[in-house]
Amino acid sequence: VSTTTECLQRIAALDQGEGGVNAFVSVSASQEEINQPSPSSYSSPLAAYPVAIKDNICTADLPTTCSSSMLRDFRPPYDATVVRLLKAAGADIIGKTNCDEFGMGSLNTHTVHGPVINPFQPESRRSMAWRERERRSAGGSSGGSAAAVASSMCYAALATDTGGSTRLPAAYSGIAGLKPSYGLISRWGVVSFADSLDCVGIMAKKVDHVRKVFAEIASYDERDPTSAPEKVRNHAQALCRTRMEELGIEADRLSTMKGLRIGIPQEYFPSELSPALLSNFRDTIKKLRDNFGAKLVPISLPSTPYALSAYYVIASAEASSNLARYDGVRYGSRVSPDETTDTTRTSNVYALTRSSHFGPEVRKRILLGTYALSADAFDNYFLQAQRVRALIRADFDNVFLTQNVLAAPSMPLSDSLDSRVDVIMHPSAIRTAPPLSETPDSGLDSYVQDVLTVPASLAGLPALSVPTGYDESGDGWPVGVSVVGQWGCEDMVFAVGAAIE
Ligand code: GLN
Repeated sequence: VSTTTECLQRIAALDQGEGGVNAFVSVSASQEEINQPSPSSYSSPLAAYPVAIKDNICTADLPTTCSSSMLRDFRPPYDATVVRLLKAAGADIIGKTNCDEFGMGSLNTHTVHGPVINPFQPESRRSMAWRERERRSAGGSSGGSAAAVASSMCYAALATDTGGSTRLPAAYSGIAGLKPSYGLISRWGVVSFADSLDCVGIMAKKVDHVRKVFAEIASYDERDPTSAPEKVRNHAQALCRTRMEELGIEADRLSTMKGLRIGIPQEYFPSELSPALLSNFRDTIKKLRDNFGAKLVPISLPSTPYALSAYYVIASAEASSNLARYDGVRYGSRVSPDETTDTTRTSNVYALTRSSHFGPEVRKRILLGTYALSADAFDNYFLQAQRVRALIRADFDNVFLTQNVLAAPSMPLSDSLDSRVDVIMHPSAIRTAPPLSETPDSGLDSYVQDVLTVPASLAGLPALSVPTGYDESGDGWPVGVSVVGQWGCEDMVFAVGAAIE
């Protein structure tokens, strides 16, 4: 592991200026300035490890801008629970990372700080050719966190994942990224995008490093009303461990996975999926079958085709409500009306402030969400999307062997256990990192990138993107595969992820 000082030097050399990666939006000045570990944390697994934090997670020592002009000068007076826990574990918080504005986007191009440049270069696998850069996206919305990890500017990074923002950039950048089970990691101090979907994600080069960070920050937090109580998380973990013991899978030692049932959902191979990624995926699952004795089971999650539409309705609806707080009065940058404006009407301050300080993608989501929640559209959009969400959840619960401890106990299903699985696997993305020159700025072309990641978000399930090499028959850029497990069954997801890499 590089030291914090080494990482700070790397950031200084590679991140800013012409041709820089642009992963960081603020950086701690020096090793001395950073969290001084308390004596108890010296023996902690993360002691003195440099960790970067996405800029929509509150930090008392560094600004938190959410990549928005609205929060350009915001300095929270407190640390988010996850930051506090990392510090308590001895980690060094080295800086805040670039992201799409309020987490809305898939390419890290919707940001006041300028786009993140993917540090990977196919040539650099052969030589250290950094100069003639091909400018590609690092993915979004947590592109800065992904690029920081990929270019060794930190050991691990915190991200967020509402509909794929940890897994997509991880896949585009060739690193591991976990979206945890909803409710396992506290969201207190994380700036809300869509509360019912928002999760804090973890990125690192190795699955084992992600696991280490997870172990430090996944705990009950009374400040987060959606935090899963101790009893519930323990119950889920116990069910998961029982099954792992049955299979002889050990969390931290890879030997066999004989009998492990991996579901391959037929709906996760849409026409948009690049054929080169498909062959990479096939090689990965074959390896698990041939080298580890896993059994591949074709499954169906029939509601998947409706997930993307449902996600964009629900996420935008919640965002429109959450972002109402940036009114220029209590929160956010403020535009004062000039002489021509009627100053007695505060709505002018509100409208002026919001139209000048929110970027176009955020404004679009607010409009979409407000529309979906309006009286005329509510039944057809918002309620319909919630129904689809329930169907997606049921789809997953119908295929997992272990019970979902959050779901109401149901009658045992009549279909035999032969069609049930331990984990589900699918390609993380439909393509490799898109070149920045041809990135669709908004609209469906951009949204379709999330088609494979949103179902696990709607169902609140743990999903880990693991790097599986490069698109060898195509452009040579990194490819990722996702492992999805039952709620609370991160242990199994990590074990399968570690077998893949
Ligand atoms: N790309 C998706 C969106 O724009 C997901 C973003 C996220 O997970 N934060 O909404």
